Amino acid sequence: MARKLAAGNWKMNGGSAALAELTALADATKDAEIGILVCPPATLLSRAAEAVSGSAVAIGAQDCHAAASGAHTGDISTDMLKDAGASAVILGHSERRTNHGETDADVLAKTETAIAAGLTAIVCIGETLDEREAGTTLDVVGRQLAASLPDNTTGQTCVVAYEPVWAIGTGKVPTLEQIAEVHDYLRSELTARFGTATAADIALLYGGSVKASNATEIFAVSNVDGALVGGASLKAADFAPIVAAL
Ligand code: PGA
Repeated sequence: MARKLAAGNWKMNGGSAALAELTALADATKDAEIGILVCPPATLLSRAAEAVSGSAVAIGAQDCHAAASGAHTGDISTDMLKDAGASAVILGHSERRTNHGETDADVLAKTETAIAAGLTAIVCIGETLDEREAGTTLDVVGRQLAASLPDNTTGQTCVVAYEPVWAIGTGKVPTLEQIAEVHDYLRSELTARFGTATAADIALLYGGSVKASNATEIFAVSNVDGALVGGASLKAADFAPIVAAL
C-alpha cells in the first residue's frame, strides 16, 4: 500500500512571515503518521527546512532543472534543492506546462534527474476543461502518465498527482465518481506497466480545490492516497485539518 501523503504547494506565495505557518503546522501535526510535505517558493527552502526540522513535516520544491549544473540562468538544480533541505520536488504542474511550455518529455527528463538525485518526484497530470468535455480525459491522463514517468519508477521515488486543470484554484471539484474513475484508471495503467506490487506502492494524489470541507469525502475515494493542495496549504489552520482528515 502506498504511504498516504498530504502535500502543500505554496506556488509563488510566501515570504519570511510565512515561516510561522510552518512552525504552527509542525506543532499541529506532531502525531501524524502520514507523510506531510510543504513546497514553498525556492527562496524559502532553507529556512523552511530549518523551521520544520525534527517534525513530521518535510519540505519540497516546485520545480527543478533537468541538468545537474551549468549555464542555465535562473534555474535550480536538484543538488541545490537537496542542499537547501528539500526531499521532494513537484514536476509538470499544469502551471509549468501551460506558462512555461513544459512537455511530457521535459517532465520525464526532470523526473529522471530528480530520482537520480534522491528526491521524491511528484509528477502532475490532468486534463483541461475542453478535454473533459470532449470525453478524452482518460486518454489525456494516460498519455501524460506514460510519457512523464521513467521506467525505474517506484513508490519510493515517485508520487503521481491527478489535478484536473479546471479544478485548480477555481473552487470547482470533480464528482467523487469522476475522481474514482481517473484514479482507478491510473492505478490500472501503473499496474500494467510496473506490476501489481510497485503500482500499489505509488501514491496517487488528487489535487484541485481541496479544502478541509471536502477532504474527508475525497480521501474516501478508491485509489486516492492523499492530496496536493494549493490555496488551502498556505495557512496551518487550513492545512492541518486536511492532514487530519487523511
Ligand atoms: P488549489 O491548487 O488547491 O489551490 O486548487 C492545487 C494545485 O495547483 O496543486
